Amino acid sequence: MPLALIVHAGAWNIPDNEVDAHLAGCRNALAAGWRVLTDGGSALDAAQAAVVVLEDDPALDAGVGSVLTADGTVELDAGLMRGADLKFGAVATVRRIRNPIVLARHVLESEHVFLTGDGAERFAHEHGIAFIDPKELIVEREARNYERWKRGALNLAGAGDYASDTVGAVAMDAQGRIVAATSTGGTPFKPIGRVGDVPLIGCGYYADDLLGGASTTGHGEAIARVVLAKTAVDFLQEGATAQEAAQMAVTVLAKRVNGVGGLIMLDAEGRVGFAFNTPRMAYGYITEEMGERVF
Ligand code: ASP
Repeated sequence: MPLALIVHAGAWNIPDNEVDAHLAGCRNALAAGWRVLTDGGSALDAAQAAVVVLEDDPALDAGVGSVLTADGTVELDAGLMRGADLKFGAVATVRRIRNPIVLARHVLESEHVFLTGDGAERFAHEHGIAFIDPKELIVEREARNYERWKRGALNLAGAGDYASDTVGAVAMDAQGRIVAATSTGGTPFKPIGRVGDVPLIGCGYYADDLLGGASTTGHGEAIARVVLAKTAVDFLQEGATAQEAAQMAVTVLAKRVNGVGGLIMLDAEGRVGFAFNTPRMAYGYITEEMGERVF
């Protein structure tokens, strides 16, 4: 099978002065994931490697650089799915983990599917994942945004105005195995304990080797209601191309629940699809047939 990798770094009204950092993040993530694939690695390792780079990127709302909750803390959600056996792993509201996608991977490889909060962190500890000081996740930009929000000085009236740099990847390896992975700090100023679409199977991510895989971003409460990633993959089953399926899924999001967001996807042949109804989405892909593009 031809190798393929597509990544995103969020869909929203990305300000002009932040576009380059988003594109650089996508390029770095593609490089990391593509190295795994071309070295003969699995789609699971490639998707994880790409998302770890994006989580570590302080420009993006996942891992370091995440938006703050209404309490001024960071709570992280992540999930990933392996299309070969439909296994998935997810974590929500973790605070002391630098790379929640790695923790989600451990959950996927366990007997469980979804762990939250303290239990997820205990599981991390049992699996040798080091805790960090939660403050290490907070960057100056988000600390400033938080202060402005508390003063009521942030104007978030328009659709897509919320910083929304959730990250994700969909990879296909030489065996035709597909994995979709998504990670986020969630929405700015969310109440603690709030969980959006990202760690929910079928909403933030979905993969089935027989059809394809998708990773989503945008307003999580709306995305969850239309089970966006699974909805996109279902369109592949009905005969749509990856590009058509991505566009049809975003149309469902907009028309059915008035939602804003976007998604990236691969079909079972490694062809790419991407769509969004926000002013911008940061994304990019590498496939053996189409080469590298970053948008
Ligand atoms: N979907 C994410 C959430 O609602 C936000 C985002 O995509 O940036 O948690």
